[in-house]
Amino acid sequence: MIRLIAFDVDGTLVEHPERLVIWQLLNRRFLGDLAVSDQRYFDFMDGKFDYDAWVAMDVSDWITAGAHRNEMAEEVRQLRLIPGAHEVLAELKTRGYKLAVISGTLDLVIEEFFPEHPFEAIYTNKVLFDREGKLKGWEATRYDMEGKARALESLAKRFHLSLEQCAFVGDHENDVAVATAAGFSVGFNPKTPKLEAVVDEIVRSESLHPVLEFFPPIG
Ligand SMILES: [Mg+2]
Repeated sequence: MIRLIAFDVDGTLVEHPERLVIWQLLNRRFLGDLAVSDQRYFDFMDGKFDYDAWVAMDVSDWITAGAHRNEMAEEVRQLRLIPGAHEVLAELKTRGYKLAVISGTLDLVIEEFFPEHPFEAIYTNKVLFDREGKLKGWEATRYDMEGKARALESLAKRFHLSLEQCAFVGDHENDVAVATAAGFSVGFNPKTPKLEAVVDEIVRSESLHPVLEFFPPIG
């Protein structure tokens, strides 16, 4: 019996018209274009540096560019909610599930789109601001790629659950490890056959609503 459902963010709860994620939007804003951003992605995938170093490079460049909280919020607002996200999360809570986020996104995205705090745990990267709202630092929480599976283990422990009682909903290659680790997993508009191969169910829909059918009320 599933007790906790963890969600990916980009492509699962929010989306961008050109499928960009917040890292790309901020790199484009503060570095001028996406060239550096794209190169860092490929270098990371090639194993040239680790996740922490990748986060450090991006955020340091934004700090150097004088990034302000308001400017970053403008970029966050270029994302939009997946239709039905709020309703589905509220209904899942009503049905008795604990909800969580496990994502390589920034905490700013969750604060902007989910001010009602439907999540009992949020595993994302964090950015820190000074009193004037200038970006001053970060916490790289390694909850992307393989780290997503470790985050689910940590969540399970925190809520005294087994991994079998934890579900995951995600859309992309960085969700393969956590979808495999979870007791039940849903690929929401999966972008890669690698994810399709490991999930229990696949939903292809504009709206998140069909996900509800897999999670009946906890009796
Ligand atoms: Mg995603």
